[in-house]
Amino acid sequence: MRSPLRAVVFLVSSIVLLPVAARAQANPDWHRAIPGFKIAGNLYYVGTADLAAYLIATPQGHILINGNFKEDVPAIRKSIEGLGFKYADTKILLISHAHGDHDEGIGLIKSDTGARLMVMDADVAAVESTAPGRPGAKVDRVLHDRDTVELGGSTLTARLTPGHTPGCTTWMMQVAESGRTLNAVIVGSPNVNAGYVLVNNRSYPQIASDYVKTFALLKTTPVDLFLGAHGAYFNLKDKLPRMGDAVNPFIDPAGYRAYVAEREHAFEKELAKQAAEARTGDAVGFDIEWNHVALSVPNIAESIAWYEKMLGFKGTVRPGQPGARQQVADLRRGNITIELFQVTDAAPLPESRKNPSEDFRTHGVKHFGFEVKNLPAVLAELKAKGVKMAFDLRVTPTEDFAFISDNAGNAIELIEHKTQ
Ligand SMILES: [Zn+2]
Ligand SMILES: [Zn+2]
Repeated sequence: MRSPLRAVVFLVSSIVLLPVAARAQANPDWHRAIPGFKIAGNLYYVGTADLAAYLIATPQGHILINGNFKEDVPAIRKSIEGLGFKYADTKILLISHAHGDHDEGIGLIKSDTGARLMVMDADVAAVESTAPGRPGAKVDRVLHDRDTVELGGSTLTARLTPGHTPGCTTWMMQVAESGRTLNAVIVGSPNVNAGYVLVNNRSYPQIASDYVKTFALLKTTPVDLFLGAHGAYFNLKDKLPRMGDAVNPFIDPAGYRAYVAEREHAFEKELAKQAAEARTGDAVGFDIEWNHVALSVPNIAESIAWYEKMLGFKGTVRPGQPGARQQVADLRRGNITIELFQVTDAAPLPESRKNPSEDFRTHGVKHFGFEVKNLPAVLAELKAKGVKMAFDLRVTPTEDFAFISDNAGNAIELIEHKTQ
């Protein structure tokens, strides 16, 4: 039992932990091992209490869907062996989608067993990525919508159900059970995570229409066995104790339809909310887009050198006017422009403005921010180059952020929004 004081200490200390580790603690059921069990026919559950993993056992070896987090791999192995199968007989590895709770352990299982890894086209790059928290596993076969995966008389069909990730995959198969053929559906994920941008998403422009396609497919799919990437999708907790019942509790077409309808409603509500937010600008008779930010600096050449080295900008000094008391330069990277001014006799930046927390006590523009992926790795690279930190890494449930100082003392925020 945790005392209230311990809980406060835990909360505070979790804020200073590295984000990758902090995120993995989010749900206690994620890493709680449960014994493997037979769902129906040759389809078995070998995941944890919430992170679902499935074994399709055949005379020619096994197909495993999901590797969960790396730390969950021993539990998966134990479940497979507890059912009387050999972990080493795993021949094919599949995933629900390229998020760490389903694929981080894939590289480890692949090197343990030599299984072939097959991943939906749009999630391949994320699975092969070697960034922290990514499996960095080589994909042996790239899958496309409706491709089949066959082994020892069992056939799985990969259905692209994008949105949650661009290559999110719902696995479908027919399972023979006491003279019946059951349609098993393993839902990839219909969820819109906190922080997901559905309107004007630059890195995933078709995200909203992808979700629409996914719900259209899920609604028209024939289902007997309702399964998914998380036990919570299909209410594993309540169904597990009913395994001995005369009717297999996982045969639940009504539960499936209710779940898909509820998730579609949640998606539509979030989409409407974001669309309304995007429309608030319509009250003004013109559009605006971000253009640039301007900085007054003591030395343009030094600032250009700093922004080129630290943040990968390219600096160009504008041709000067004869007798001008100022020099102007542009820093550009992608669609971001920073304008630099070096003005003769400019006043230096006061010391109080160099510390973000203190700087908030002065009115005016405080800092500008860049979204990054994998903030700890970005900070490690910047620190290796000698960057001055203005405010060290802060971890929150929705985003992680830190402030660096440029060579003239201006605060720059680096921010990473989280996904699961
Ligand atoms: Zn997940
Ligand atoms: Zn996910």
